[in-house]
Amino acid sequence: MPLDIPEYPKDQHATLADVTPQLAHVARLNAQMKHHSAPDVLRLAVAEIPDLVLVSSFGAESVALLHICAMITREIPVIFVNTQMLFAETLVYQHELAERLGLNNLRIVEAQDIAQQDPDGTLHRTNPDACCAARKVAPLHAALDGTGGWITGRKRFQSKTRAQLSFFEVEAKTTRIKVNPLAHWQAQDVRDYIEENRLPRHPMVARGYPSIGCAPCTSAVSEGEDLRAGRWRATQKEECGIHLVDGKMIRAGVIT
Ligand code: SF4
Repeated sequence: MPLDIPEYPKDQHATLADVTPQLAHVARLNAQMKHHSAPDVLRLAVAEIPDLVLVSSFGAESVALLHICAMITREIPVIFVNTQMLFAETLVYQHELAERLGLNNLRIVEAQDIAQQDPDGTLHRTNPDACCAARKVAPLHAALDGTGGWITGRKRFQSKTRAQLSFFEVEAKTTRIKVNPLAHWQAQDVRDYIEENRLPRHPMVARGYPSIGCAPCTSAVSEGEDLRAGRWRATQKEECGIHLVDGKMIRAGVIT
């Protein structure tokens, strides 16, 4: 039977009273960093947000943010969600990159009960939202429980739903602060940073995969296509549910 999206953990029912101080904090941080660079944003976040973690997919562009962070601190916990549906190349890249950057606080998390939730591994075909919820969202939220905030690699140019992204925001339904140091970067900025710092790219980028998720839900992109066109191709799905907008799942142009 298809699964429903699971209930959010208790910390994801924050009240307005819980969130108000965080909103004020975020407004101050955004004002302070208005004209600053990604490393400056990250440095301030590390200094001001207790129990901060970085969440990385070790995907096509991840190396830039991981490198900036490693230049500031290698002690910050880096959370990697293994959906157990990833490309073998991603797992190898994750291992090699963590070693090269000296990320010594890596936390690899995965769903413990996936054999019950998706016994034959076909849930991505029948109910991709439930599959993402079980394989990505639930393990990530469990790992984030008790943290003060998390750093993401999201950028404004990536989609309409990210077009207004700020450096700092309060995560929907929680008191956690999300930090988006690369919010204003363009695709070329990412490429330039990677080249200038001679960082290794995910090997599938050269094979036409500018955005890389799980193997069954990621395809190569043709010249001129949107960078995320290969994610959940031919479906309405645009996001895995890790990043909700106003607490809602995003589909193509529709908030559900
Ligand atoms: Fe499942 Fe696909 Fe989501 Fe991966 S991206 S968790 S395989 S639906």
